Amino acid sequence: MSGRILRLYDTRTGKKKEVKPLRNDNIIRLYICGPTVYDYSHIGHFKTFITYDSLVRLLKYIGYDVIHVVNITDIDDKIINKAAEEGVSYRDISEKYTDDFLEIWRRLNMMPPYAIPRATYHIQDMITIINKLIEDGYAYTADGNVYFSVSKFEKYGEISKQKTDELIQGYRVEEGEGKIDMLDFALWKKSKEGEPSWESPWGPGRPGWHIECTAMSNRFLDPPFEIHGGGEDLKFPHHENERAQTNSYIGGEAVYIWMHVGILKFAKEKMSKSLGNIIIMRDMLKKFSPDLIRLIILSTHYRKQLEYSDDKIEEAKNILRRIKRVYRKLMDYEEYGVGGSIDIDSYRDRFLNELLNDFNTASALSSFMSFIYRLESTIDNKKLSKSEKLNALSFIEEFKYIYGLTLKDELKHDDKLIGLLINVRSELRRRRIYEVADMIRNMLGEMGIVLEDLGDKTIYYRI
Ligand SMILES: [Zn+2]
Repeated sequence: MSGRILRLYDTRTGKKKEVKPLRNDNIIRLYICGPTVYDYSHIGHFKTFITYDSLVRLLKYIGYDVIHVVNITDIDDKIINKAAEEGVSYRDISEKYTDDFLEIWRRLNMMPPYAIPRATYHIQDMITIINKLIEDGYAYTADGNVYFSVSKFEKYGEISKQKTDELIQGYRVEEGEGKIDMLDFALWKKSKEGEPSWESPWGPGRPGWHIECTAMSNRFLDPPFEIHGGGEDLKFPHHENERAQTNSYIGGEAVYIWMHVGILKFAKEKMSKSLGNIIIMRDMLKKFSPDLIRLIILSTHYRKQLEYSDDKIEEAKNILRRIKRVYRKLMDYEEYGVGGSIDIDSYRDRFLNELLNDFNTASALSSFMSFIYRLESTIDNKKLSKSEKLNALSFIEEFKYIYGLTLKDELKHDDKLIGLLINVRSELRRRRIYEVADMIRNMLGEMGIVLEDLGDKTIYYRI
C-alpha cells in the first residue's frame, strides 16, 4: 500500500476524494476515453492523454499498480463521412488514424496502457449489455433501433450538474426515429443504406457511441473501478449516458472518481504565423521535443483550460533550458563543499504535496523550479556536498519520471556534431596531424561512438 495519499476532484460529487483501491489488491483502475480516429491527433487531444500518462506515473511512484485502458472509437459518423469523401472503406480511415495516434503516443514517452481496445472488436460485448438493459426495462426497441430510457435512471444529470429539463433546452439532443423521450439516446442504430453494419437481435446496425465505453470498461476493468477520465467536453452527453448505462447494467455506482481535463484553447491573436498552425501532433514533433510538449501541457493545472500561445511555448522552453543546464552542471560537479546550505528533502516534500493535492502539476513545477534555482546557486558557490549531489540527482530523476521527461538531447543534434568531428578529423589527417586526429577518435570511443575508416570514408556506430 502507498504511504502517500493522492486526492482528486470528483466531478460528480464536487469533492476531492482519496484515491485508493476499491478492492484489496493495490491496483488503481483507470479508464480514459480515447480518440475517434478520423483525423490526425492534435495538441488538444494530447492535453488529456499527457495528463493521464503523468497521473499514471504518479500513482506508480507512490506505490500502486495501475491498470489503465484507453479506448479507440473506430466506428462513428465522422469516420463514415470521411471514408465516403475519400472513396475508401471506414477501416482504411480508422486504421490510418489509429496508427497515427499510437505513433504519437510512443513518441511522447507515454507509458503503454494495459489495453487499447477498439470499439468494433467488442460489438458482441455491447449486444450482451444492450440485451440485459432491455430485459431489465432500461431500454426499448423501435424499428431496428434500441434506445436507453433516461427517465428510468433517476440520477441522470449529476456529472454535468443539470436537471433533465435544462438539458433538453441547453443541448442539441440526439435525433432518432421512434424515441419515446427527447433525452433518450441510441444504444444501437439501425444501419442506413451503404453504411457498415453488424448483425444483432434487432437487425443489422451499429452501436451508439456511449455503449462502446460501457462495454470496454466492463470487459477490462470489471466495475466498480477507481477513476474514469476524459476531456471536460465529454461530461455531457457522453459520460452522463455512459454512467446511466453502466450503473443500470451492474446495479450500482460504476465509477468512484469522474476526473475531467480542461480543454486547450488557441489564443489566436497571440500566435505568430510560424507557430499558429502547429497543432497537429506530427507537425509539432518536427519542431518541438517531446519534453517541451509535455511541459507546455503540465505547466497548467489539469482542470484549467490551457491557453496555447507563443508565450506559453516560450515559458516552457525557458523552464526546460534551465532544468537541463542545472542537471548538466550537477552531473559534472565534483568540487564538493561541506553541505547544509540546501534542504533538498523539504523541496521534495513540497513538490510531492502539490501533486498529491488534486494533481497540481503546475504548482509542483513551480516548487521544483525553486529547487532548481537554489541548486544552481549552491553548485556555483561550491557548497554542495557529495551526499547532497546524490540526493539532488535522485530528486531530478523522480521529477523526470513523474513528468515523463527524458532531459536528453535529440539524437539528430548528436549526429550533426559527430559528423562535424569526423570532418575535422579527416582534415587533420589530410594535413598529417595524426596525434590530434587520433585524440578525437579515442575520445569519441570513450563516449561509445566508434569510428571506422573505410577507404576515403569514415563511418561510425554506437556501442
Ligand atoms: Zn468514452
